[in-house]
Amino acid sequence: MKKYDVAIVGAGVAGMTAAIYVRRAGKSVVVFEEKVPGGQIVNTSSVANWPGEPGISGADLSREIKEQMVGLSAELEYATVSSVKKTDEGFMVETDDGEFLVGAVILAMGTEPRKLSEKQMKDAGERAISYCATCDGALYKGKPVVVVGSGNTAKHEMAYLSNIASKVYHIHHDEPIPEEAVAVFVAIGRVPHTEVAKGLVDLDDDGYVMAGEDCLTSCPGVFVAGDCRTKNLRQLVTAAADGAVAGNAAVQYLG
Ligand SMILES: Cc1cc2nc3c(=O)[nH]c(=O)nc-3n(C[C@H](O)[C@H](O)[C@H](O)COP(=O)(O)OP(=O)(O)OC[C@H]3O[C@@H](n4cnc5c(N)ncnc54)[C@H](O)[C@@H]3O)c2cc1C
Repeated sequence: MKKYDVAIVGAGVAGMTAAIYVRRAGKSVVVFEEKVPGGQIVNTSSVANWPGEPGISGADLSREIKEQMVGLSAELEYATVSSVKKTDEGFMVETDDGEFLVGAVILAMGTEPRKLSEKQMKDAGERAISYCATCDGALYKGKPVVVVGSGNTAKHEMAYLSNIASKVYHIHHDEPIPEEAVAVFVAIGRVPHTEVAKGLVDLDDDGYVMAGEDCLTSCPGVFVAGDCRTKNLRQLVTAAADGAVAGNAAVQYLG
């Protein structure tokens, strides 16, 4: 079984920043990512509010941070973490690529798009469902599509698709999906991606990992960073800040 000082679940900006701090303090670290390093930001064409690199693309920013992290010999494992369990020796991290024994864990799983209701899923039937117009919009050139949602993201998706699709229908959450639409673009908010944290640490009623600015969870040796933590401002800089705090706290915990 592979052993590391620290395991980080999620290679978003929070997780990758935490890995940089852990490696620079001389501890070994494995970072698990089930999709693409960079997380939510990878498909954003122009990133706002990131100091020093105004307008950088999300893909470029993700690549830069990943290269910095890997350059410090953090181990990046493309695998889904299914559970984290406390053991006498530390923590057992179970993934679809085997088990890992570690001394401390940083939870940095971020958020994922809120899914359609069961009724709307049934309505959608065999039609394509997308959570990203920038990623998938081009597939529906000249065809009618529908955007579900009422916030700013839904408005942004509609504006983007209006240059591609023959018609963009707009409905609110739980309204019937128009029969004409060939694809459904969902923009009804985000929810914490904290399935693996259940039973390990305290979560609030919405599923966020409960912790203050010190990133300490209810379980000693488990830390949390980024958007999956209870906080007011979910942005890249606050994700990076949490990564620094959690990485540093994990190193101090290991001694
Ligand atoms: C469309 C969009 C545009 C945005 N634009 C901006 C902007 O311009 N400026 C700004 O400051 N903020 C922006 N944000 C917010 C910003 O992207 C987030 O605050 C930030 O990315 C959070 O980083 P994170 O590392 O906490 O989480 P995430 O980016 O969500 O990363 C979490 C990672 O964990 C992985 N993961 C989750 N569970 C597991 C598991 N069990 N096993 C393995 N891997 C797992 C996920 O695949 C993901 O890669 C935007 C968000 C969105 C959705």
